[in-house]
Amino acid sequence: MGPPGVGKGTQAVQLAERSGVVHVSTGDMLREAVQAGSELGQRVRGYIDSGRLVPDAVIGDLLAERLDQPDAEAGFILDGFPRTVPQVDILATALDRIGARIDGVFILEAPTEEIVRRLTGRRVCPNCKAVYHVEGRPPTEPGVCDRCSSSLIQREDDTEEVIRDRLTVYRDETRPVAEVYENQGLLVRVDGTGSPDEVAGRLGSAIAAREGGA
Ligand code: AMP
Repeated sequence: MGPPGVGKGTQAVQLAERSGVVHVSTGDMLREAVQAGSELGQRVRGYIDSGRLVPDAVIGDLLAERLDQPDAEAGFILDGFPRTVPQVDILATALDRIGARIDGVFILEAPTEEIVRRLTGRRVCPNCKAVYHVEGRPPTEPGVCDRCSSSLIQREDDTEEVIRDRLTVYRDETRPVAEVYENQGLLVRVDGTGSPDEVAGRLGSAIAAREGGA
């Protein structure tokens, strides 16, 4: 968990690679639907571009379907879900059905100014989902993905105005999710400031401590 731009995607992609489990990002799944021009994509495009949340029922069905896929059997890193309190129940039901449980909920935290700076400079690979920053983490060749050589893009919702709206949505709708998991003893706070490697180091230690203590 964490506000938009705190580094969830960057960390989740690396963590999934290291742990040999799949990265399940609801944001990526929705953007893929938009790119493909599917019926779902047409329904959700307006929400995504304006930084509002897609309705719980729509996203709930999408997530349940994804977790039913064979590649999720060995486990998964969920990124960007749940984002509302009703989604906590949707996830619990989906997990019950496949006999899985949450090991831990890791929340990355960083000050608003740092988040705005990161998001306005963010560039992403539409193909392999790698995340870059024009200053902090530039690709070797400007505008080209190091991993798969696709052209990098700036997300529609990474403009300053939409970013402010997304931060408001986060505060009003997603922060309460953290409280729910805190009450269940699952929440682990991780400092999301500094370089991606520094954050990865802290996150790795937090996960190891959780595994040791759980
Ligand atoms: P993200 O890539 O996680 O920042 O998500 C981008 C956008 O996709 C969000 O601003 C929402 O419009 C939508 N989205 C992603 N995950 C969810 C979710 N769990 N619930 C509702 N909308 C979501």
